[in-house]
Order: sequence, then C-alpha cells, then structure tokens
Amino acid sequence: MTPDFGKNPSLESVSVYFHIPFCSKKCPYCHFFVLPDKKSLKDQLLVGFKKEWQAKLSSLKNKNIVSIYFGGGTPTLFVNPGIKNLLQWTNDLHLDPNIEITVEANPETVTLALMKELKSYGVNRISIGVQSLDNDQLLILGREHSANKAIDAVNITKKAGIDNITLDLMYDLPHQTLQNFSKTLDQIENLPITHLSLYNLTIEPQTAFYKKRETLINHLPSDENSLKLLELACKRLETMGLKRYEISAFARDGAISIHNTGYWKARPFHGFGPSAFSYIEGRRFRNIAHSKKYLEQEVPIDFEEKLEDDEHKNELLAIHLRLLDGVDLPSSQKTHVPLPKLSLIKLQILHAEKYLELSQTKVKLSNKGLLFYDTVATKII
Ligand code: SF4
Repeated sequence: MTPDFGKNPSLESVSVYFHIPFCSKKCPYCHFFVLPDKKSLKDQLLVGFKKEWQAKLSSLKNKNIVSIYFGGGTPTLFVNPGIKNLLQWTNDLHLDPNIEITVEANPETVTLALMKELKSYGVNRISIGVQSLDNDQLLILGREHSANKAIDAVNITKKAGIDNITLDLMYDLPHQTLQNFSKTLDQIENLPITHLSLYNLTIEPQTAFYKKRETLINHLPSDENSLKLLELACKRLETMGLKRYEISAFARDGAISIHNTGYWKARPFHGFGPSAFSYIEGRRFRNIAHSKKYLEQEVPIDFEEKLEDDEHKNELLAIHLRLLDGVDLPSSQKTHVPLPKLSLIKLQILHAEKYLELSQTKVKLSNKGLLFYDTVATKII
C-alpha cells in the first residue's frame, strides 16, 4: 500500500468508516446490525461496497483522509478479499501521512498470520473486544472467547508488529463485584496496550438481554456500586499510564484515537456498508440496516437530517464536551461557536450547578459533570 501523497493542509480532513456486519454468533446484549458469517453474504457485501464506493468516490476526492475505521460486527471475519480490497480502493485518495487505520477484532479470530496480513495492508491499529477478563462474566455476556484467549490475542497482535492496540472493556455487568473487576484490571495492567475504551452495559430493546431484563436487573450492580466500579477503573487505568481524555476513553501519550476524536470534534465522516452513519456538511445520514435492501438500492440511505442551526451547535457542543480537555471557545468558531445566546445561559446555569468549569475562553466538565454527563448533555441540547 502506498498511502503517502504528502501533507496538504488546504484539504479538508475527513474520516472513513466501513461497517462489516458479520459475526459468528449474536451476543445477547448486542443491538448492532449483524449478519451470519457466511461466504455467500460476504461476497455479496463486497459487491455492495464497490457500488457504494463508486457512487460516493467523488465526495472523497480532494479530501485529506486522516482515519479509516473498520467496525462491526467482526471485521476480522472479512479480511481477504474484504478489507484488502477496500484498502486498495482508498489508494486513489489523498491519505494523510499519519493516517490511523483501525480494525476491530474479536479475540477468537486473532491469529499471528491474520494480524501480519492486516499489517501488510496498512492497518496500524487493532481494537480488541475483550469486554472482561473474568471467565464467568464472559459466559454471562455470551462471548465466544475465554480470558486467556483474549490475553493471547493482545500479545499476538503485538508480536505481529502492530503496536497501537486498544481494548473494549465493560463494567456494570450482572454479578460484577469490585473484587472480580479488580482482577480483570490486574490482568490488563500486564498487557501491551496503548488505549482502552470503557463501556457500561446497557440493556437495549430487541436484544436477548432485554427479554430477560427483569431477572437480569436483580443481578446488576447498584448505582452506588456502579459508581465505585467506574472510580476503580479510572484510578487503576491512570496508574497504568492510560490517561482519561474522554468520558469513556483512556490513552497513553501519543495514542489518543484520531478516528474517535473526529466524532467528538465534528470532523466529517463518510460511512459505508449497511447501517453505517455519515456526517457530511452538517447533515447526518444512515445507510439501510438491511442487507438485501442495501444491495438493491441505488442510494442505500434510509435516514437523513439537517439539524437547525442552534440545535446543531448545541448538539456539537454537548458531544465535544465529552473530551476532558473541554471546548476552547475562540478556536472552535468553525463548528459550534459563536454559541446561541440561550446556550451561553445554559452553560452559566450548569456552571452554577457545578457541572461545568467555565472561563472566558474555555468550558469543560467538572468532576461532577464527568459523573453526570447525561444530565449535562440533556440540559444543553
Ligand atoms: S461480537 Fe460485537 S457486533 Fe458481534 S454480536 Fe457480539 S457485540 Fe455484537
């Protein structure tokens, strides 16, 4: 792959997202659009990707692609010819010299050969869906891998020469205690990772967990314990050198995710594949979450919205506030500032309520705001 066309600061920075929907089995808490891991479906999807790519290619010309992200699903079930081809197509575009190319992987799919293959295509970051390093918790989550397999997957990825490794970790799980979560964190401490995303379990409609929510709820940590789990994770991750830079993201120096930061700072992104979202010129689009319709339709979009100006600015502000650094008011003129008068009043109220720290030039979450971000977001939007 020859991604380096030289840096051109006059080009607009954008990101590209490919949704690879295949999974060997649906996890009981999962609300993403997924398809069974079948060769015939994969062949069809590659044809669909090609069609969508050609239709949208002109909108990616003269842009500086700063990140490419393969999310899922399980993208590591779609490496060759899938990811290989998709990355070859991007060679015609202007790729930033420091481009971040991430592939999500489930631990049970990781082999040395596969990771080396991905590296040879230009992939430089792997996101491993570890979720927990406690075998009982993994069983409850319906995951296909053991804790040891997840640990092996991280070490194998490193051995393959991919140094930028991030993990997905979950808390607020049924039967989770401070003791068993602490053991998971002990094991994470020994792993060669650069980044970690921490999520709490949410029980979403149309999932297997939702059907048995009444039983499950009895086994979830109380609000008080949930807070203790979060505090434990933050404290332990910081001592490992993983600094919290966003509400749910922790990174070593120099390893902040380029792709995810784009979501929080309103960088345009172009999504491909069924159910993928895009954000272009202040409009949001969603592709059809249905494989047949996605393949058949000329323009596979089933949802599009342009937020009204003030509404848009408020939403961008709320999302940007997820970053612990906060929002530098004068330098974000292009996105959500100057803020509508009403927003400034809302910020002042939130400041008075101690959710925000506010100065002439900067607004950021306080410790209380970090714990109650949803309240802050709701009040701003
Ligand atoms: S592996 Fe990920 S995308 Fe696939 S079913 Fe499980 S949670 Fe959903």
